[in-house]
Amino acid sequence: MVDSSVIERVEWLRWEINRHNYLYYVMDQPEVSDAEYDRLMRELQSLEGQHPELVTPQSPTQRVGAAPAEGFAEVEHPVPMLSLANAFDEQELQAWHRRATNLLQGATFDMVCELKIDGLAVALTYENGRFVRGATRGDGYRGEDVTHNLRTIRSIPLVLRGSVPGRFEARGEVFFPMSGFQRLNEERIAAGQAPFANPRNAAAGAVRQLDSRITAQRPLDIFIYGLGYSESPVPDNHWDTLQLLMSLGFKVNPHNALCHYLEKVEEYYKIWVERREEVDYGTDGMVVKINPFESHERLGYVGREPRWAVAYKFPATQAITRLLDIGINVGRTGSLNPYAILEPVNVGGVVVKQATLHNEDDIRRKGIRVGDWVVVERAGEVIPQVVGPVVGRRNGQEREFTMPASCPRCGGPIVRTEGEAMARCTNAACPAQLFELLKHFVSRGGMDIEGMGEKLCLALLEAGLVKDIADLYYISKEDLLKLERMAEKSASNIMNAIERSKTRSFARSLFALGILHIGSETAEILAHRFRSIDTLATATEEELTVIPSIGPKISHSIAAYFKVDSNLKIIEKLRRAGVCLEERAPVQKAELPLAELQFVVTGSLVNFSRSRIEARIKELGGAVGSSVSRKTDYLIAGEDPGSKLADAQRLGTRILSETEFLEMVGAQG
Ligand code: NAD
Repeated sequence: MVDSSVIERVEWLRWEINRHNYLYYVMDQPEVSDAEYDRLMRELQSLEGQHPELVTPQSPTQRVGAAPAEGFAEVEHPVPMLSLANAFDEQELQAWHRRATNLLQGATFDMVCELKIDGLAVALTYENGRFVRGATRGDGYRGEDVTHNLRTIRSIPLVLRGSVPGRFEARGEVFFPMSGFQRLNEERIAAGQAPFANPRNAAAGAVRQLDSRITAQRPLDIFIYGLGYSESPVPDNHWDTLQLLMSLGFKVNPHNALCHYLEKVEEYYKIWVERREEVDYGTDGMVVKINPFESHERLGYVGREPRWAVAYKFPATQAITRLLDIGINVGRTGSLNPYAILEPVNVGGVVVKQATLHNEDDIRRKGIRVGDWVVVERAGEVIPQVVGPVVGRRNGQEREFTMPASCPRCGGPIVRTEGEAMARCTNAACPAQLFELLKHFVSRGGMDIEGMGEKLCLALLEAGLVKDIADLYYISKEDLLKLERMAEKSASNIMNAIERSKTRSFARSLFALGILHIGSETAEILAHRFRSIDTLATATEEELTVIPSIGPKISHSIAAYFKVDSNLKIIEKLRRAGVCLEERAPVQKAELPLAELQFVVTGSLVNFSRSRIEARIKELGGAVGSSVSRKTDYLIAGEDPGSKLADAQRLGTRILSETEFLEMVGAQG
């Protein structure tokens, strides 16, 4: 007798899964992420596994998809189109392989690895080589007749290239290219329609259109991944069948691979977890198929899943969670950058609490409201982003977002210039802006002050030691030592790094000032053209606009910068400190301090990475060798030097410590 609480749970799971199936397969508007759906399904499978007497033919574990929707003619599949079992980690993949090996009495078999395309399964029927019917998978037994729509997809051949007498069915996945997906969603939002959560729903939405003119406007494509049935003879294995399909004119994924061992399958997975974003279609995993068809017959099916194939899923990149609030960051140029504060959610193994929302227009375009359930996406290393709201889950408590009328950090006035996406705080003394500007000023691409991280920038601002970026050149080592957790040695290193930064080129200093719209390339162009900050400061907007690649936006921003008194004061302070604010005459190589000198470096250094010291030596005219020889002038030896030190001692090469090297090159180090 099964416990009544188990029966209740099973019934609830079936009801809930069927509801999600309907939203996903019929409406193309899911309310939960695939990972959440998979969790419900797994729980149901596990309960049914423990209590087989509860399994009914109607259970979602035994059926796929949903029945054909109204408005389409029904198509009966001569060979059912079923689903795939999932493996979520290496152990599950190995367990699948072990089970198949046992059932095949220890026989070995090749496997075909394919990318699992995130789209919509279709069956294409051909009669004597002509395309006669295209159908969706539907509930696996009966699908929707979408022939007219599929005819609009150019990669589906209407006539096959070889002779295939009789009936023949190819199966594949229609997909929506990633590049077109974003555009489609923007159009939908503009038209007041809910955006699609993912390219799979977009593909399904486009194929299941009653009006094929709409389908024809979508950039749909297809990969064929197998055979339904054939009245003509076909190969006896899957790999050769794929080659046959290709020769008939079908588009087959070029990344498919034939693997002889499970280790190779695992390798394929590892490669594609990394590379999945390189292709212009969504893929949520790989499909591993046992190659010989004879094994397929012997292995058969369990419920709706063949035993001869498995979908080995990649970690999820999307999740659905609550948008608790919208926060605002103030950027270096005063831009107000809204970001999503989320109920923490696991997206592909990383807990995401915040995501970018770009700007006010983007929020409006996506139709996002505070309190919404939203789809969050993480791709590669980029900051997670909010794709859009799940409109079907609204309860009326959600509220529209409006940009604050004053800066959330300093209370300063906000303006939004026409034609600009960003609203900005106009108070130049806004502490949030100064923090961002200081970080930019000291960054690698700017004055490149090593050792000045975000924490130190903040500490200097909080201690009142830096009130504008130029103050950095007026702090003393004693000032630094007053900061919390600042040791003598770090303070010296930072003072040296600040000193060294004065020799950065004019273009770098100009970029470091953080003038709105002046990126590093524009700074280079301006530095070459005007040669000093004073000439640039007096240039008119008209003079600036005639320079190729300098548009009115940049010209206006430069002219506006030099009209502000406090900016001119900063420039004066930088000049007094000795910061380079003009193009230097090109230096002859022979005049450089390390000209004609050969260096070799060994051991680990405190102030430099290996590549950095080598770059520095070369900039100062020296050459860097990889081993000590009679030609070597100096060996720079850091901590734990290698055998090069002994070589230098043997050859009588001069040996420098890192400090001695820094003294040798002075401020130019
Ligand atoms: P599936 O998508 O996990 O796997 C089977 C399908 O994979 C096939 O029908 C075929 O269309 C496709 N496929 C892609 N490339 C293939 C290839 N190279 N070879 C063979 N098949 C390939 O299974 P399913 O039954 O279609 O859907 C179940 C999945 O759909 C769930 O795991 C979940 O991720 C998602 N789903 C989500 C919701 C939701 O509400 N979020 C609801 C229902 C289903």
